[in-house]
Amino acid sequence: MAVLVLLCIFLGNAPAFGDVKVSIADGFDFPVGKPDAAGYYKARGLRLRSPTHFGEDWNGRGGGNTDLRDPIYSCANGVVTFAHNVRQGWGNVVLIRHAYRDPSDGKVKYVDSLYGHLDAIHVKVGQKVKRGDQIGTMGTNFGMYPCHLHFEIRYNLSTGMQRNSVPSDYANWADPTQFINKFRRLSREWRSVSVPTGTYKEYQGFKGL
Ligand SMILES: [Zn+2]
Repeated sequence: MAVLVLLCIFLGNAPAFGDVKVSIADGFDFPVGKPDAAGYYKARGLRLRSPTHFGEDWNGRGGGNTDLRDPIYSCANGVVTFAHNVRQGWGNVVLIRHAYRDPSDGKVKYVDSLYGHLDAIHVKVGQKVKRGDQIGTMGTNFGMYPCHLHFEIRYNLSTGMQRNSVPSDYANWADPTQFINKFRRLSREWRSVSVPTGTYKEYQGFKGL
């Protein structure tokens, strides 16, 4: 009986490894001007101290809103874990979960990439994407900001839309450009891997995968 109770507690708290399988990433590209961010520049970078900025802002070199509705691409193979207009300061947000093999220790690891303030979302929760697939278009959060892409890479799979629920440190937050440059090319593997699902808390009534 005790074993059964413990098992239930364990299963209740552990992230579920469902039957969602993704192609392991064969590398990471920039989400604009694929694959090298040609025609774009990073207007703001990662900042983990107050005032925090948990990712990067990418803008077109043309200035102003000349980049409005430019294509936004998935930075790697993965599965869409969130795709909703959550309004407020975010607007349209897409999160994608990626599995990749870290060459430094040979282990399969996971990260989430986030794409914010999109003008339009072209993917659905649960949809599998490849590196370079268009997932939406660059936007202004419906007029709240000058057009740009807000882009994050998170090591902590529980973060979701609750950014304040995880410590503001490098264990949870990747510097996106550094991460992409580090894992630019990974060896291709002809297999899929299961990814954790059910790791996000519901946000404003919106659910993830
Ligand atoms: Zn930003």
